[in-house]
Amino acid sequence: SSWCRSIEPAPKDPILGVTEAFLMDQSPNKVNVGVGAYRDDDGRPVVLDCVREAERRIAGKQIMEYLPIGGNIKMVEESLKLAYGENSDFIKDERIAAVQALSGTGACRLFAAFQQRFHPDSRIYISDPTWANHHNIWRDAEVPIRIYQYYHPESRGLDFAALMDNIKNAPNGSFFLLHACAHNPTGVDPTEEQWREISSQFKVKGHFAFFDMAYQGFASGNPERDAKAVRIFLEDGHLIGLAQSYAKNMGLYGQRVGCLSLVCDDAKQAMAVKSQLQQLARPMYSSPPVHGALIVSTILGDAQLKKLWLQEVKVMADRIIGMRSELRERLEKLGSSLSWQHITNQIGMFCYSGMSPEQVDRLTNEFHIYMTHNGRISMAGLNTGNVGYVAEAIHEVTK
Ligand code: PLP
Repeated sequence: SSWCRSIEPAPKDPILGVTEAFLMDQSPNKVNVGVGAYRDDDGRPVVLDCVREAERRIAGKQIMEYLPIGGNIKMVEESLKLAYGENSDFIKDERIAAVQALSGTGACRLFAAFQQRFHPDSRIYISDPTWANHHNIWRDAEVPIRIYQYYHPESRGLDFAALMDNIKNAPNGSFFLLHACAHNPTGVDPTEEQWREISSQFKVKGHFAFFDMAYQGFASGNPERDAKAVRIFLEDGHLIGLAQSYAKNMGLYGQRVGCLSLVCDDAKQAMAVKSQLQQLARPMYSSPPVHGALIVSTILGDAQLKKLWLQEVKVMADRIIGMRSELRERLEKLGSSLSWQHITNQIGMFCYSGMSPEQVDRLTNEFHIYMTHNGRISMAGLNTGNVGYVAEAIHEVTK
């Protein structure tokens, strides 16, 4: 018999399991607010016009050759400008070590491997809660995980005092994973003022900030505004790490295009760090994929296409922000005695509704509305056609 005979099935991914159950449901009323992928007002996935135009321009070109291990250089350059600012001195001084990565997940995973290799005694502090895959990524990279407090269940907002306490109490020089904007799953971000306090406390403690920026532009509709936390840390002189993804903000989910970067003391150190990142990438996947990176470099490298992208990312963000107001208003109009202010206070793809697992079960079983057990609603799954139905169902199960 097979050497695999004693292998048990791996636990199901909680998010992908929701989609499976949704697809099996025959009800015409069914709604999927589980998965974090954008849908338009007709509930359909979107290919942005800027992406279609970039693909037209790419079509027929000789592009099947391998990329270098570090990926598409133009894409990486454009990514740095987007995150660090067009006129960033760090870019001018070549102080940033950066490589193309397999979307945001790949950027985090490569960084975790780098952390493990060059700082094997370190741990990673992640927020409670965080995107579930953060746990898997640092666990598989064999970096011990520590938790910092973040979410305040009563206010459905930020527990800033507890967060600051945890930052102060962590050993000097700790590694912290921070969501740059649109925190997943809570939709709760620190204010600009709070980011400044966090940054200055990080300075006091000598902590290292690794930003996961999976939603730049997708949160507020403006990539510059969504990069504010990153920029504050840079202004304060932090040498940060950064994972970027084009999954959400360009709708390039399956193309797996992103960027990992680390700010270094000088150009020489940046070269060394980049070469080590490449050394790590080589045996993992050899070199990153061509097509998505070419789409990104074509869009960001062309003034007209970039302008179109900025418009389109704003349309997506605005639609989600509009759905937040709509859902909240409808719940209030239905006479709900609960406060739903957090729906509009939170930002990004998700609303952390505060519903209990039992209430979520009722939504699914009685109303065919699918979401993760933690009560996280993917706002992109709502549209003018279903928001009324979802509001009534939520009102019913939270009475
Ligand atoms: N980080 C966070 C916080 C996310 O929410 C996501 C996507 O859901 C990712 C990273 C990475 O996504 P991808 O690997 O598709 O870029």
